[in-house]
Amino acid sequence: MNCQCADIVTPGLLDLFAARRRLIDAATPLSGVETAPLEQAPGRVLAEAVVAPLDMPGVDNSAMDGYALRLADYQGVPPGEGLPILQRVPAGAGVMLLPPGGCARIFTGAPVPMGADIVVPQERVTLDQRGHVHLEGNLVVGANIRRQGEETRAGAPLLEAGEYLTAASIALLASHGISAVPVKRRLRVALLSTGDELIAPGAERSPGQVYDSNRAMLNVLLAQAQCDVLDLGVIADSPQPLHQAFDHAQTMADVVVCTGGVSVGEEDHVRPVIEQRGGLHFHGVAMKPGKPFAFGYLGSAPSSTTPLIALPGNPVASLVGWQLLALPFIHALQGREVAALQCFPVKAGFSQRGPQGRSELLRVALDWSSGAPVAQLAGGQGSHMLSAASQADGYLMITPATDVAEGSTYHYYPINQFAA
Ligand code: AMP
Ligand code: MG
Repeated sequence: MNCQCADIVTPGLLDLFAARRRLIDAATPLSGVETAPLEQAPGRVLAEAVVAPLDMPGVDNSAMDGYALRLADYQGVPPGEGLPILQRVPAGAGVMLLPPGGCARIFTGAPVPMGADIVVPQERVTLDQRGHVHLEGNLVVGANIRRQGEETRAGAPLLEAGEYLTAASIALLASHGISAVPVKRRLRVALLSTGDELIAPGAERSPGQVYDSNRAMLNVLLAQAQCDVLDLGVIADSPQPLHQAFDHAQTMADVVVCTGGVSVGEEDHVRPVIEQRGGLHFHGVAMKPGKPFAFGYLGSAPSSTTPLIALPGNPVASLVGWQLLALPFIHALQGREVAALQCFPVKAGFSQRGPQGRSELLRVALDWSSGAPVAQLAGGQGSHMLSAASQADGYLMITPATDVAEGSTYHYYPINQFAA
């Protein structure tokens, strides 16, 4: 199962977490703001804080289907007399006045009539032959009434600038009557693959050719990250076409993402072309897969450079580099709060030799059959092997020179944290 590639220790690689920090710190958040109607706001980043325009709930209302009454009225009638039902209050009714000496039939969400101080759920009420209400159980003033403003008061903060708008936050805005919000404009990302061997899925494959899976994957990942993609296709392995592509990318996009050609072979032209057109912040991260990751920029004037992320060509290295390094950079550019990496301890269900010189992210699936999660390899661990990546629930992070021992615990990073 384990990758049989030589474990070459490269000096000078940047620690994975240090690389992540450098990317986040280097990001200048987008300044453009636009107004999005709520239907178009999911996944967008709030550009300004939103303050509650109204009290929530808007009026005292019933938490149950039942009967609203003044407790003292019920306690004041002779034993066995009960209270007559003098009112009916469905959801959508206005605020009524409870007539003295009686109670109101009320439904969930309906305004509690003025004068009532308790709602008794219908399950705890019996009606006698005259239709009078008799109550059971413990009766406490205020029970089952949702108070006006108990969740938020008008003027209280509702959402912070930089929040990523989820279904729940959209619902929160809608519940306050808000129909549009200021959001950051979408990030424009130029995407290109490099490699003479690459062909498009659907074309006939000749020996030696490779389908361009990275661009298919990155188009999805960029769309999930709410970016507008300028797809520049496959660029040949030589400096001139790369210069041309970067020329275009630089003028059209906020960020450039490329894959392949960023290793140190003589067919790898990405690094020298970046260095001619701009510069590199770093190249090479102590992670496996994902070592040949580069972060740089195109352009020379400090105010008009375009950041560039060069992902490795090997598909799983490209995926992991995106998830752990590129995505937090994109979030920071979007003005979004960058979430800390989430991990928790999980036992390994296998043993194998540990990585040398860099941290390894093993693609694992969790087996819950024993009640507690046990990580099992999700398939072959080569950086070219997408099958395991497609079956994995998460990554088991193995630090350099640590062997994996069955039953021992390692940091597990769930993949679903990278979903948006
Ligand atoms: P490179 O980083 O260009 O040296 O490529 C490393 C490996 O990844 C080679 O086996 C390439 O064929 C493969 N590769 C590079 N780019 C892609 C891509 N866009 N899709 C799938 N495989 C790729
Ligand atoms: Mg290549």
